[in-house]
Amino acid sequence: MTTPYDVVVIGAGPVGENVADRIVQGGLTVAIVERELVGGECSYWACMPTKALLRSGAALRAARQVPGAREAVTGDLDVAAVLARRDAFASNWQDDGQVSWLESAGIPLYRGHGRLSADRVVEVTAEDGTTTTLTARHAVVVATGSGALVPDIEGLRDAAPWTSREAVAAKQVPGRLAIIGGGVVASEMATAFSEFGSSVTMLARDGVLHLAEPFVGERVAESLRAKGVSVRIGAEAGSVKRNDDGTVSITLADGEQVDADELLVAIGRTPNTRDLGLDTVGLTPGEWLTVDDTLRVLGADGAPLGDGWLYAAGDVNRRVLLTHQGKYQARAVGDVIVARAKGEAVDDDRWGRHVATADERAVPQVVFTDPEVASVGLTAAAAEAAGLRIRVVDYDLAATAGSSLHAEGYQGHARMVVDEDRKVIAGFTLVGPDVAEMLHAATIAVVGEVPLDRLWHAVPAFPTVSEVWLRLLETYGR
Ligand SMILES: Cc1cc2nc3c(=O)[nH]c(=O)nc-3n(C[C@H](O)[C@H](O)[C@H](O)COP(=O)(O)OP(=O)(O)OC[C@H]3O[C@@H](n4cnc5c(N)ncnc54)[C@H](O)[C@@H]3O)c2cc1C
Repeated sequence: MTTPYDVVVIGAGPVGENVADRIVQGGLTVAIVERELVGGECSYWACMPTKALLRSGAALRAARQVPGAREAVTGDLDVAAVLARRDAFASNWQDDGQVSWLESAGIPLYRGHGRLSADRVVEVTAEDGTTTTLTARHAVVVATGSGALVPDIEGLRDAAPWTSREAVAAKQVPGRLAIIGGGVVASEMATAFSEFGSSVTMLARDGVLHLAEPFVGERVAESLRAKGVSVRIGAEAGSVKRNDDGTVSITLADGEQVDADELLVAIGRTPNTRDLGLDTVGLTPGEWLTVDDTLRVLGADGAPLGDGWLYAAGDVNRRVLLTHQGKYQARAVGDVIVARAKGEAVDDDRWGRHVATADERAVPQVVFTDPEVASVGLTAAAAEAAGLRIRVVDYDLAATAGSSLHAEGYQGHARMVVDEDRKVIAGFTLVGPDVAEMLHAATIAVVGEVPLDRLWHAVPAFPTVSEVWLRLLETYGR
């Protein structure tokens, strides 16, 4: 039997949920298909639980950095309590709350694995093997996200390593944890597990947070080392073996052996498109989906597939692998599908409501390491590579009055990358304690393309760490 809807969304992660919500708000009908937990990776194995793992350590560090509060700290991190808080933030891996939300929003949920079987047709295979066929009058949206990438290192798969999922949901803290990777997940998990008492070795072949401004990786690596983490920049795993006693041995490319009780692989993501029926509509299974400005999937000829009925939002289109950016795309996709279905004009000007322009050069990101890293827009290197004529302005966050009040021995750094031809900010990076909450001001300046002359009138309150904005302008000069 076939059930028709205006729109069918495959994947009920944060992005799929938001697409469906916009579709319903726009007055169309929508069905959503989910094979695991409604809420997706972000709710149960990524954003929320990772930050719950990291927050208690950050709060403890903050208290220890302020005389008066420091004296009140009489114990160490209570790891069992941290893990229990993590469980609560992962809703104990139950999705009842999010299912109730779907019901209240009027979005029917089909539990099972969704696959395209023809243009506008999705087959859902439930756990008991029964199948349901859904058809979409207007559009199908793929919001199936991504999974951990496990590279072809000899013996690695047989060694059953942790991916981010097992690390995030860990019930026990391994005595020795080895990590392959130096990116965001690797750095955050090295921070968390070293604070929980693991002896951590990080095999960061390409460096720590190497896509950020260079001072970011230097400071985070220095802090990890101060926590006892062995940060091995340039180290490459050659082969891996799970030993009979349950431990893991990693042989590096130079022959050295690293032994650990557990191994986390955190080197990147792969799209959830392998078993999605992409071949039935002329696309290649297992690949990232390429999209146009309004997030319609492009076929091999570079044009929207068919009459433009297939959309992809969130991780699966590889534009930006972050929840907030995927939800931003979701709003654009939901609204543009409604507009097209109703024959309304598509608002695809540069900053129109049906495009996700900020994905290109205005993506905010926070890395919850110690110190925190908050950035938006382009790094100096990326701006230069993009052909911008830039000037880099640096300032020591410790030199603001607010920072010394915030914490004894506050250390941090800010960098503003100025687009010299337009006199606007192309990129902004902060590293330091609690800088995450300062990021949105920079995001507004970048997206709003606020001229530096006008920024002088955005006066930061005294005495806050945000005073760095004034100091950066003074350093730049008028
Ligand atoms: C450890 C870690 C920490 C992170 N921390 C942050 C953070 O702090 N902030 C941030 O912004 N981002 C963070 N991210 C990234 C963030 O998790 C993703 O960008 C986000 O989850 C993407 O949302 P999505 O809806 O596109 O995909 P997902 O969240 O992956 O959801 C996709 C859903 O589709 C379902 N699905 C897949 N295939 C099918 C199918 N064929 N049929 C039916 N259902 C299917 C999946 O089961 C899943 O529920 C983190 C990622 C990791 C790994």
